[in-house]
Order: sequence, then C-alpha cells, then structure tokens
Amino acid sequence: MSAKIPVGVLGATGMVGQHFLRFLANHPWFEVTWAGASDRSAGKKFRDATSWRLDGVMPESVAGLTVEECKPGNAPKLVFSATDASVATEIEQAFAGAEHVVVSNSRNHRMESDVALLVPEINADHLAIAAAQRARRGWKGLIVTNPNCSTVVLTMALAPLRQFGITRTVVTTMQAISGAGYPGVSSMDINANVVPFIGGEEEKVEIETQKILGGFEQGAFVPHPMRVSAHCNRVPVLDGHTATISVELSSEPPEQELIAAFAAFRGVPQERNLPSAPAVPVIYMPEKDRPQPRRDVERERGMAVFCGRLRTCPVFGYKFIALGHNTVRGAAGAAVLNAELMKTEGLLD
Ligand code: NAP
Repeated sequence: MSAKIPVGVLGATGMVGQHFLRFLANHPWFEVTWAGASDRSAGKKFRDATSWRLDGVMPESVAGLTVEECKPGNAPKLVFSATDASVATEIEQAFAGAEHVVVSNSRNHRMESDVALLVPEINADHLAIAAAQRARRGWKGLIVTNPNCSTVVLTMALAPLRQFGITRTVVTTMQAISGAGYPGVSSMDINANVVPFIGGEEEKVEIETQKILGGFEQGAFVPHPMRVSAHCNRVPVLDGHTATISVELSSEPPEQELIAAFAAFRGVPQERNLPSAPAVPVIYMPEKDRPQPRRDVERERGMAVFCGRLRTCPVFGYKFIALGHNTVRGAAGAAVLNAELMKTEGLLD
C-alpha cells in the first residue's frame, strides 16, 4: 500500500483516545490526521488540550493537530470512537449518518440488533450485518463495535472450545485498575484490596459473550445458547484482566484435546496476516503458575490472550485461567484490528 488511510479519533484527548493514538503511531495502513473532543478542547492544539497519561511521550505526529468538535464535516471517512459514553450514541450516529465508518470502543451500540460486536478471530462473519444496518438506518456510513475489555478475554478463551459444545460457564475476573480510566479507582479503595463490584460489568460480560460466540443466520444474530455467569472484581494490578473460568461441555474430551484446541486456534486475522493480528491468538502456557499479568500481559504487543492451568472441575468438568491486555486487546488494539478486517472486506472503500 502506498499512501496511508487518514483516520480520526473521537474522544482523542481521553484515556482510551490516548491508547488509540499510541497504538496507531507508526501503523502501516492508518495515519491519524484528525482529533475530536468536547467543546472544552476544540480549537486548542492537541498538546495543550491533553494531559498525556500513558507511559512515554505523546506521539509527535498528533501533538500539533488542532482538536475539533466531534461533529462530522472535515473528519476522515474512518473514525475510531473513544468518546464519553454519555454522548457516544448521538455522536457516533451523526458520523455514520454522514457517511463515516465508525469503529467504536464505546458500549452504546454493542447490543443493537443491526450492529456487529466483533472479535475478528471469532465472528468476522458478523460484519455481514453492514448492509442491513445501512438499509434500516438509511445511512451510507457504518457503526461497528468491539466488546468490553473482560468479554474479549473470555470469548477468546472460549472460542477454541466451541467445537466441543459449550453449555455453561462461570467466570471470575480480576480486573486491572487501568480499565477504570483516569483518575479511576481511589487509591484508598484499591491499595491492598479487592473491590467486588464494577458497575454494569457482569451483565455486559454475560450478554456480549453470547452475541459474539453466537451465529449469524438469515441476516440476524443468533446468541450462543450457553449460560454465562460472571463475577467481576477490581484488583490492584496496573494492566491486564485475569479471568478464572469453569466450563461445561456437551462432550467429554480429554484435557490434552482442549489444550491442543487452544494452540490450534486461528481466525481470519491470522489467515489474512492483518498488521495488528497476533500470529497465535490464544497462547496456552504449560507452567503451573502462569499466565500472570505482570509477566505476560505485554507479550505479543498485548494482542494475544494467554491461557493456562487447564484441569478438572468437579462441578463443571473443566477449569482454567485466561489473561488479556485490557487497554490493548480489550480496547484500542481490538478496534484497530476490527478496522483492518473491514479494510480487507472492502468496507472502507
Ligand atoms: P475520558 O478519559 O473521560 O475521555 C472522554 C473523551 O470524550 C474525552 O476526549 C472528552 O473530551 C470527550 N468528550 C466528553 N464529553 C464530550 C462531548 N460532550 N462531546 C464530545 N466529546 C466529549 O474517558 P475514557 O476513559 O477514555 O472512556 C471513553 C469511552 O471508552 C467511554 O465510553 C468508556 O465507557 C469507554 N471505555 C473506557 C475504558 C477505559 O479503560 N477507560 C475501557 C473500555 C471502554 P474532553 O477532553 O474535551 O473533555
């Protein structure tokens, strides 16, 4: 590819917006040329409007951009959305209505019946909803979403096991504080502590998992029939959501078959060699005490999910552990991979 595709970021000054900018720096296909935020920031240079909260310095390529209001007009056709959830519905719909392709990290449209909730390794076929969305809404643009940061870890870990017939699963998450944004959880609450409540999280994990692992038949999403129960906890870890998972299958394969299924799992991003795709999307670690967030979460640029400790569960049949990078695979990296998939489907033309 000769010239890069210009892209915009809605909510560029926020935490997730900054993750987008960092993930997109030096991307081989995309180049950030436009940054949108609230009217509090509009008109300022990005470097003046933004307190950079991530490790390292603000990418020089965006520091000099003038922040614009989140209104369609002169933004590039492809925009990544990291706007505040309280305004994301109207903003994303306005952009889609003005022929923009909106690749969103917000929760607002995820469960709509005409919006794909994508994990490209698992349900790339769900992108076929695009035509129905355009027809129903009467717009030429498009909205596509990525899941909640915990849902990504659970679905990537369960996807290789779908072939054995998943009937029920119970997941307990230990979620990093970076998932709460900035300033996030008070240090008085999280230091040397576990907070056993993250508003709305358990419901999101349960319902999004069924949509992602479900099918797409006769133009509609068909949720996976498995029952999902989630317990979500905030723990004093900086980056990386860990999940312990018990799963019931309709067959009784030996544990080695499940481990082989993790290792063999590949999806469309690997087949097409997409720039942000990890070569091996689910990495099974044989060590008895891995994966661990501090040791493993940055491997594979944060785009793989790590599993381990598969063993017998006396209640559900099997249990194991999974780990994923919440702000990369669970947010910015997930959305960029979605856009890469869409590019190869001709949806950015
Ligand atoms: P944030 O740091 O508060 O940033 C919010 C962004 O939205 C800022 O760029 C802000 O611009 C902009 N914004 C606020 N009000 C606006 C308005 N009326 N019009 C246009 N833009 C407006 O929030 P965040 O933590 O990055 O989260 C952003 C989104 O991602 C939310 O939907 C959140 O639920 C979702 N999310 C967050 C995380 C996470 O780890 N934090 C993870 C997954 C999903 P100004 O700087 O000008 O105020």
